[in-house]
Amino acid sequence: MSEHDFTMPEAIAEAKRCLNCKVPQCKKGCPVSNDIPDWIHELSMGNLGNAMAIINAKSNLPAVCGRVCAHERQCEGNCVLGKKGAHINIGKLERFVSDFDTAMNLTREKLVRKDRGRVAVIGSGPAGLTIAGELARKGVAVEIFEMEREAGGVLMFGIPEYRLPKDVVKKEIAKIEQLGVTIHCNTTVGCDLTVDDLFNCGFDAIFMGTGTGKPKRLEIPGGDLWGVRQAIYFLRRVSLFNAGYIGRDEVPVKEGDRVFVIGGGNTAMDAARTAVRLGAGEVTVLYHREIDTMTALRAEYDDAVAEGVKFRWNSSVKEIHDNDGILNEIVVETNGVAAPEPAQKVIMAVGNAPASRIVSTTEGIEVDEKGYVITREFPYGMTTRKGVFAGGDVTNRPATVVHAMQDAQKVADGMLRYLDAIKLLETIEGDEGVS
Ligand code: SF4
Repeated sequence: MSEHDFTMPEAIAEAKRCLNCKVPQCKKGCPVSNDIPDWIHELSMGNLGNAMAIINAKSNLPAVCGRVCAHERQCEGNCVLGKKGAHINIGKLERFVSDFDTAMNLTREKLVRKDRGRVAVIGSGPAGLTIAGELARKGVAVEIFEMEREAGGVLMFGIPEYRLPKDVVKKEIAKIEQLGVTIHCNTTVGCDLTVDDLFNCGFDAIFMGTGTGKPKRLEIPGGDLWGVRQAIYFLRRVSLFNAGYIGRDEVPVKEGDRVFVIGGGNTAMDAARTAVRLGAGEVTVLYHREIDTMTALRAEYDDAVAEGVKFRWNSSVKEIHDNDGILNEIVVETNGVAAPEPAQKVIMAVGNAPASRIVSTTEGIEVDEKGYVITREFPYGMTTRKGVFAGGDVTNRPATVVHAMQDAQKVADGMLRYLDAIKLLETIEGDEGVS
């Protein structure tokens, strides 16, 4: 338990403040329509098992949501008590309930017979885990194929440890495995095996939750230098170091480095704060517009400032220079005036696009001009290839963990309709064969 977590008496006292509104604005603000007043009410009476069961009905990753959701823009931002200055701390309460449930092994879900079909899920980030949990609870046999050595995707290798402890992610994944889901790590679909191989293995449908793993580049002089790193690569290296897979010297930022981070989203904040924690001498975020247009959460920005990160608005990097192949200077333009500055590392956080590994090795999956997978409204989430579904960031709809989950829940419904329809057809064709 961290110092920021509620104790039991604190959690119950906070839950008792909730007005249990008839038309709960907090629920309206939640992308997955979490039944917030219902579980807060159970919690206020000390019924933690009931509270967990209500949360589980809408979320497969409550301990994650309780930590990384944009509560200030969603449930807490909508809570009526916020108008009086003190909204209910919904995120912290959700975290308390799910952590307590995990620690006490409180709720044990009944295992459902898996007779509605077999589904392969590619990728184990928020979308893949949500699909897996939803389908397993509804009688589908699910196997996840993950290219990394551990499951979790961006939860494991993208969001830093200080925002989302990895043991929390591992415990959430273990709960999904307890539903009967099998996870195959170190297996890259598109290299080790193809979508067609999966169909040949007997899967009835396939879900692509492969996210946006291809970082966008800035085409500027010096952009290919060794000291220029993509934020998702940098954060992944730090996660691997923290997990003991690589040494400190394999993490790009060294102690004392003067680091510039380019971008204004949460990934830029994560990279900047992580660089500070690694002992960088100075970390500056360059953002090409004003503060109000940054996509990063205000709380993330405030924390970054409190930790010593500097910000420069209306600023962009124009050139990157080296001395014998070692990055030593960047040219920064601020409000139209360009000037050179000493630098050791530049971290790019200007967005990502989907990788083409699966699409390029599979016939019939169409993408738009930016590489995002095209999907249908009915059955929801099916790509242009029959039986192959996609959701989460790879389809360009969601942007955050909870939005990826929201989209994945809708795709799960689409997949269930598809699975039931093909089973029905098989039954009819079987009956016709007999008669
Ligand atoms: Fe409770 Fe606030 Fe939701 Fe009302 S809006 S039910 S007070 S959390």
